[in-house]
Amino acid sequence: MKADRDAIIRGQRTAEPASMQITRRLEFDAGHRIPNQASQCRHLHGHRYAIEITLSGEIITTEGAAGQGMVMDFAEVSAIARRHLVDAWDHAFLVHAGDRRIAEFLASIPGHKTVVLEQPPTAENLAIAAFRILDPAYRDKYGNNLRLERVRIYETPNCWADATRHEGGSMKPER
Ligand SMILES: [Zn+2]
Repeated sequence: MKADRDAIIRGQRTAEPASMQITRRLEFDAGHRIPNQASQCRHLHGHRYAIEITLSGEIITTEGAAGQGMVMDFAEVSAIARRHLVDAWDHAFLVHAGDRRIAEFLASIPGHKTVVLEQPPTAENLAIAAFRILDPAYRDKYGNNLRLERVRIYETPNCWADATRHEGGSMKPER
């Protein structure tokens, strides 16, 4: 039995993980409408959205470093997401630039918090937009190959869309 345990300690009986991923979830409220949709989402309304940010990287092993034992401190994952995206989208109205009637109406309200998007604000398009905004914000800050792997946007607890990085480095949307 002792030989078995020694083998486990030396790693002979255990599988090593190929990579490490961490995910931070944040929530925000926003309004939107999908102008061409036949059902409910064509009306002006809002959602309690959730965004899940998945990063990959090596665990920081530098003795005494603030992030030792982590890929990135979850508090910092959250702070970067807020600074670059969530603070701008929270309690904003997310409008497609092509939805001219609503876009012009919102622009006519002084100081209204509006986010104008190039595509209709579906969960898929929000995930793509969020990925593009956040990707440079998380790029390899600590020499541990940190990078954004996936952005998941929940429009409701039961409906979400994933924008996932391609092996080559760019990003592909998934549902
Ligand atoms: Zn909706």
